[in-house]
Amino acid sequence: MTNYLYQQQNWQSQLSDLITDPQELLSLLQLSPEQLLSGAILASEQFKLRVPRAFVGKMKVADPFDPLLLQVLPHHLELEDHPEFVTDPLGEEQANQQPGVLHKYKSRFLLTLTGACAVHCRYCFRRHFPYQDNLPKNEDWLNIKQYIESQPDINEVILSGGDPLTLTNRRLQSWIERLESLPQIKFLRIHSRVPIVIPNRVDEALISILKNSRLRIILVVHSNHASELDDFTCRTLNTLVKHQITVLNQAVLLRGVNDSAQVLVDLSYRLFDAGVMPYYLHVLDKVKGAHHFDLMPQDIDLIYKEVLANLPGYLVPKLVREIAGEKNKTPLFGVSTA
Ligand SMILES: *Cc1c(COP(=O)(O)O)cnc(C)c1O
Ligand code: SF4
Repeated sequence: MTNYLYQQQNWQSQLSDLITDPQELLSLLQLSPEQLLSGAILASEQFKLRVPRAFVGKMKVADPFDPLLLQVLPHHLELEDHPEFVTDPLGEEQANQQPGVLHKYKSRFLLTLTGACAVHCRYCFRRHFPYQDNLPKNEDWLNIKQYIESQPDINEVILSGGDPLTLTNRRLQSWIERLESLPQIKFLRIHSRVPIVIPNRVDEALISILKNSRLRIILVVHSNHASELDDFTCRTLNTLVKHQITVLNQAVLLRGVNDSAQVLVDLSYRLFDAGVMPYYLHVLDKVKGAHHFDLMPQDIDLIYKEVLANLPGYLVPKLVREIAGEKNKTPLFGVSTA
């Protein structure tokens, strides 16, 4: 599909023109509406379809199994009940100290400034998280500041979400300035999928905010498949790298999307083309509605062994699982025998 149109369009108009109707998505891809069983419509009512046109432009036309499409198209299997797949698999509701703050790890904590994402990923572990109750307002800053100052081990703040790059540059900048005012904060991490689904988000104003900050900036993007990384997206990511911003990628291992060593090897090399280093490969969190993306531990093991055999060590993402209550992400290797 023609993508160059989106390369000219500013990110905010792209963000206000998302595809939310499953039938429209299918027709853009020349797929028949029968592709959607009735359960899929219900699934999209529970967690709405949301996808930028620029991302749809990277999908293959007329391919119902396109790995990018599978990540966003509501599916009737989401409605199936599986007892071990729950609404809050990571126990985040408990770790929630105050509005926007999720502090589970010693030196760093998540600050959630928005519940909004540019894309809704069907496998997302936050699909049931009640963000709306818990977003910090400007006047919450004093409490957050006091909290940080009471925890001298904290040296890094992770803006997470939702997706922090759905915020305007102005709001982003004002939060960054607040964090910069605390000498103990050295690192600012931004977890975002927006540069992958709307590459134009990385505009000059954003680059200038990031490169002029006193904080070391680490941008962790989220791409699961090399097809998400067309030339335009890679060039955009590389611009950040050229400005001394560390850009890492996290991916989620998903049945039907990237559950083969070859796909993961291609992803790592493609990221490296853009100057982006593979960081994490997450095993799926057992969130209600995502069971059909799950893989058997022994299959994960086989795939990861082959990835290890086929990539230089620096391009191998760490295979991890997040276990509720654990003090860090748990590295997995030899999962089937563990
Ligand atoms: C993943 C995660 C982090 C960051 O962990 P790193 O291993 O440093 O990437 C921080 N807080 C929470 C709640 C997380 O889930
Ligand atoms: S962009 Fe990230 S937080 Fe948002 S739905 Fe996708 S995986 Fe979840």
